[in-house]
Amino acid sequence: MAHVDLASARIWRGAPQAVAACVAVVALAFVAPAEGYYLNILMQAVTYAIAVSGLVVVLGYCGQISIAQAAFFGIGAYGVAIGTGDFGLGFVPSLLMGVAAAGLLGLILGLGSLRLGGHYLAMVTISFQQIMTLFATNWISFTHGPDGIRDIPRPTILGVSFANGHAFLALCLVCLVFSTLAIWRLKTGRLGRAMQAVRDNELAAGTCGINVFGTKVMAFGMSAVMGGVGGGLFASGFQYISPDQFTFGESIVLLTMALLGGVQSPFGSLVGTVVLVLLPEWLRFLKQIYLAVYGAAVILIMVFLPDGLWGLMLDRVIRRSKPIVGDVSPLPLLSEQGAETDEIVLKVEGLAKHFGGVKALDGVDLAVRRGSVHALIGPNGSGKSTFINVVTGLYRPTSGTVTFAGTDITHAAPHLRNRAGLARTYQNIRVFRGMTVLENVMVGAERPGNDIAENPAQVVDRALAALDFVGLRADAHRQVGALSYGHQRYVEIARGLAASPQTLLLDEPAAGLNLTEKHELGALLRRLKGHGLTILIIDHDMNLVEQVADHITVLNFGRRIADGTPSVVLANPDVIAAYLGEPRREAA
Ligand code: ADP
Ligand code: MG
Repeated sequence: MAHVDLASARIWRGAPQAVAACVAVVALAFVAPAEGYYLNILMQAVTYAIAVSGLVVVLGYCGQISIAQAAFFGIGAYGVAIGTGDFGLGFVPSLLMGVAAAGLLGLILGLGSLRLGGHYLAMVTISFQQIMTLFATNWISFTHGPDGIRDIPRPTILGVSFANGHAFLALCLVCLVFSTLAIWRLKTGRLGRAMQAVRDNELAAGTCGINVFGTKVMAFGMSAVMGGVGGGLFASGFQYISPDQFTFGESIVLLTMALLGGVQSPFGSLVGTVVLVLLPEWLRFLKQIYLAVYGAAVILIMVFLPDGLWGLMLDRVIRRSKPIVGDVSPLPLLSEQGAETDEIVLKVEGLAKHFGGVKALDGVDLAVRRGSVHALIGPNGSGKSTFINVVTGLYRPTSGTVTFAGTDITHAAPHLRNRAGLARTYQNIRVFRGMTVLENVMVGAERPGNDIAENPAQVVDRALAALDFVGLRADAHRQVGALSYGHQRYVEIARGLAASPQTLLLDEPAAGLNLTEKHELGALLRRLKGHGLTILIIDHDMNLVEQVADHITVLNFGRRIADGTPSVVLANPDVIAAYLGEPRREAA
């Protein structure tokens, strides 16, 4: 019952604020000065703010830099101008047309993120921006060229006329309220979390079941839609547009607004937009030196407030959630009894991975039985991590096959392997640093295909259960970066467990842990083993390995040199020579 209540509460979350905000902004619009200079400034701030909130999605949430927001703004504006003028359509269909065009081009631009990242992707967005400006200027028969388009009408929607400046401003403000709330809610939803995971750690996001590429494309599309909506309203608000309003320079201004206010939050982008629209007006009395002062002010704010103005103000207050008390259902795994079976759940045959001349893996065979704990050991550089990276799809094998639960996954994308039930942790911790402990684990819980993935309340429940299991429930609302190194490892394990994996791959989970933490980890692994979770573990701590492993495979220089039960493998002279040597006796 509690789940249902929570789920329906979610739908309405923000609704009272939305209504209150709408009433407030409509009242505000009507006390604003009538037509003229100040109304224009307000109109500009509001329509820009809608476009800037798109940058919160693509840059703030998803971490992809786009320097083309003015182009999308322009596409929306031209949609309204050409739609209502040349095509003789109404405002709403024209706006929808412009927004659809912007969204579509945004998705296409996002496709560029398949092969390109960082600076290169930024360059592509700049090129796109320039091409759009060229189109607007030179395709005169369609866009009316450099002279622009005049006399764009203000709409009448459902019998209500928005011809008056106050009324149109009110319409823009209501759109801003909805876009801001939508983007605020996006952040705490599944898609928003996926975007933030991609931003914080692309590799880990993929192995948590997130379609990294699809998520980026979606972020670009949504951002472009927001740009288009802002631009469409702008065109009708000012009733005149020309290509020089949608140039590269304007894209930079929009980007600055987002960064200045705080790109992680739609409220931040709002603050940034208002400040950057008003600042030049306030500074106009400085005449010739006003641009220099304006530039200096922007630089100072950015240098001293890296999280933007909003970061300074309220985000922290809003984000500080109440601790979650009450019972959660335990992990489903805990109701199972462990027993090794004969079924081979993970089968790797002839696996090779060469990096140039380095044969990191050289024809390795390995079979993991369901319900067993299988250890993979060997000296540093023997190919253990590479093995896990190939099995989880981060590296393409040079040759060989990987079969998981009866399916050949040799060429499957990482997120599809995760969805098939393969979860992992990393030797070098890969948590989502911008998120809380709970959010990190929720990303694991809501992997598509998980039993509870579609129910937001149960996702929280499952994530808390996983945190309970590793003993970190009390830290659920802390930023993950604030935890100790060892506890961050537990967060990774919890994130894996929350996904209800069939097999968990652990790459040196004991590395960097202190003695107490190592004991805790040993106990944790024994509990997991007791409940029958299949585990493939890499570790150098032979005490730990001996305690938990049913089966050991030893690698050396990318080749398998031994494979079998612990007693046989650890007594193998090749293994002693290559790996165990003296330290083995000490450890024993
Ligand atoms: P282990 O985890 O057993 O310590 P790794 O799998 O990390 O070993 O590395 C095996 C070998 O492959 C090493 O020689 C390492 O330098 C090399 N290697 C691993 N990853 C890469 C990579 N991305 N590019 C080039 N060489 C790599
Ligand atoms: Mg390694």
